[in-house]
This record gives sequence, C-alpha cells and structure tokens, in this order.
Amino acid sequence: MSAPYIPTSGLISKLKRRLTRLQARKSMDCAQGRFLVSFSFDDFPKSAAQTGAEILQSFGWRGTYYTSAAFENTSNHLGDLFSAADVSTLIANGHEIGCHTENHIDCALNPPVIIEREIRRNQNRLRALGAPIPTSFAFPYGETSAAAKTLLGQHYTTLRGVRPGINRRFADAHQLSAVAIEGTLADKDTPLAYADDLGASPGWLIFYTHDVRDTPGEWGCTPELFKAVCTAVDEAGFEVLPVGKAMASLSVMEKAA
Ligand SMILES: [Zn+2]
Repeated sequence: MSAPYIPTSGLISKLKRRLTRLQARKSMDCAQGRFLVSFSFDDFPKSAAQTGAEILQSFGWRGTYYTSAAFENTSNHLGDLFSAADVSTLIANGHEIGCHTENHIDCALNPPVIIEREIRRNQNRLRALGAPIPTSFAFPYGETSAAAKTLLGQHYTTLRGVRPGINRRFADAHQLSAVAIEGTLADKDTPLAYADDLGASPGWLIFYTHDVRDTPGEWGCTPELFKAVCTAVDEAGFEVLPVGKAMASLSVMEKAA
C-alpha cells in the first residue's frame, strides 16, 4: 500500500491557497434564517457507506458521498473502499452521490483539460453504477485554483473545500467551508464547537469525514464520535440535508428574496 499523497505545504503554496480563496468566487448567502447541517464522506470507504449511513439513517437523515470512481473495489489507508453494491444501496436509501474526480487528483496542480476529462470519466462510471448526474463536487485534498473553480463551477452547483468554518452571509459556492470529523470521542470538542457556533446564528455547516470504524485512519472517525456529533446536531434541532438538497433549498430562498 503506497503512502497517502500530501499536498505541498510551503509558503508559496500557502499564499496561493489564500489567493485562490479570493478568486473565481460564486457569492452566496447561506444565512437565510435557517440552521442547516450536511454530513459528507469523501473518496469513499465502505465503512462510510455502511456504518456512516446506518448512523445517519437512525436519525432519519441522508448524507453526501463524494466519489472517486477509481477507488471502486480497492483498499488504502482508509480501509476497503466502496463497491458497486454500496453505491446502489446508498442511492436506494436516498443518499447523494457527488463527484470527487475519477482518480482523486490534486486540482491545484492539474490543467483544466485533465480536470475536465477526470470529471467526465467519473460521471460516466458513476452513471454506469446507477447514479444520477452529480450536482455536488468536493476538491480532493481540498486543493484548487482559480481555473479549477471556474471550470468546475460550470458543471456543479457546489464545490466543497476542507477549510473549516460555517458558510454564512458571504459564502463561496465555489469553495464551501467544511469541518472535519476526525479521531475518537476524545476529539469531539472541535466538531461540537462548530455545532455550538451554528446555534448562535443561521448558516450552513458541512461536516466531512472518511472512514467510520473502530480503528479509523488519520482522516476518519470512530462510530462513537460520529454518533456524538449527530446527537449534538439532533438535540440542537438543526435541519439536516445532503449538500445538493441544502444548496437547492438555499438557492430557491435566495431567488425569492
Ligand atoms: Zn478525497
């Protein structure tokens, strides 16, 4: 098993990331009097499709699964990844299948022509698995560029990053903030602090994680932690929708306003 790819973290890439957040934006008001939460899973591991979905469904909720088709029937640091049957079951149960490029590429380093081919091929493979055309996209590693935001914004209604935060009045639909659920129950303070923050004023809080299992990898969580976050969201009475449905309902409100 090869080591997971980690994007560069030098000063230049940090400055580029900061600049990219200001470029190719699609301004959007996510604070329209509602307290919205979405749960999403990236890549995605079988444990997210099974344990993760079971937990969400026990609360009556559905999630968004950002899928890289090349991961089908493979294993990596996240454990076993999804199968065709996992995709079918998720769709049958009302979950959303989003796009995450075919080969989980770094969108900051690849030219538009490659990204375009990646999403077309991912879409074709997802369609063969019975998935509707995705409207939601998440950048692998959270990495993007102005060119990638512009291109992908023509294909998807939302593009999600990994910069933590709550999407509020001046959100960027081309690079939505998202909060990681990572680790064990001992790591609950960060995600729960964001849930508390949402309670203070309207907005859209998007959580993401990877594997959901007793011994999660670095970017996954235990079922106990995932349940603890769900319980806090449930007790707060927030509205929980998959990313695509949350975006659609916010867009309708924005147009009507
Ligand atoms: Zn990913």
